[in-house]
Amino acid sequence: MQGTEGTSGKVAAVTGGGSGIGAAVAGRLVRAGFRVAVMDIQIDHARAVADALNAQQPGAALAVALDVRSELSVHEAFTAVEQWGRCVDVLVNSAGIMHVAPVMECSVDDFRRVMDVNVGGTFLCSQRAARGMIGQRYGRIVNLASISSERAGVGRVAYGTSKTAICGLTRQFAMELGAHGITVNAVAPGPVLTPMTEQNYTPQTRRAFEAMIPAKRMGGVDEIADAVVFLCGDGAAYVNGVTLPIDGGYLAAGIGTT
Ligand code: NAD
Repeated sequence: MQGTEGTSGKVAAVTGGGSGIGAAVAGRLVRAGFRVAVMDIQIDHARAVADALNAQQPGAALAVALDVRSELSVHEAFTAVEQWGRCVDVLVNSAGIMHVAPVMECSVDDFRRVMDVNVGGTFLCSQRAARGMIGQRYGRIVNLASISSERAGVGRVAYGTSKTAICGLTRQFAMELGAHGITVNAVAPGPVLTPMTEQNYTPQTRRAFEAMIPAKRMGGVDEIADAVVFLCGDGAAYVNGVTLPIDGGYLAAGIGTT
């Protein structure tokens, strides 16, 4: 297996790997020399991604059914990956959902649903993966935060709150796991066209973002994936507990900069 230095033979798991950013991350990790478990609640989507990767590099990918909300499902998914003979070296928590509703209209059920997947799921998968990483004295965890972690937006009470929590969770895990050779970081993408944003963005939302982003365009899934892969590699061994914006300058620009 060809790979960048230090990655050959290592095992990565990507939650939400059946779609969007997670699928792009899975592809970039295979190119970097990892064997990749593509985990998703939509197993048919995970299989399609894994099949495409295996067509390029036989044996490089495995599709695994996972519901990040269930401790049992998380345990079974990570146990299935161990058929490769080692615990997960790298975990990318990309599974997530968005719900758009203003503060005064968001039901507590919708609020809890988003927190359960985005925050609870990242917690459960990180904790399960870290058990093996501690034993191996090596690990990389990368979480998907968002520009919504840092900046409020109308209709983002559930999603934005969950993504702010991801930054806190990243710091907590980084602090306690650092001594075991594990780094835990997050990336905060700006808007990227994926099934999630296609469902939730109107054409006006997209145009408004494009006007506000200094790069004057939305990001591409591979641009997010490249930064994730950097944080998964040996070159980022001393980067720990940070949230890296990948947003064409959106957060740097501040409100009203067009
Ligand atoms: P997406 O909808 O394309 O992919 C999300 C994947 O997560 C889907 O395949 C879905 O089946 C899976 N998933 C949902 N619930 C799950 C569960 N309970 N268990 C397991 N898998 C589950 O979305 P995306 O745009 O690729 O987003 C990926 C991550 O990046 C999310 O955490 C999202 O919040 C974050 N993000 C996205 C953007 C963007 O603009 N697209 C921006 C910032 C952050």
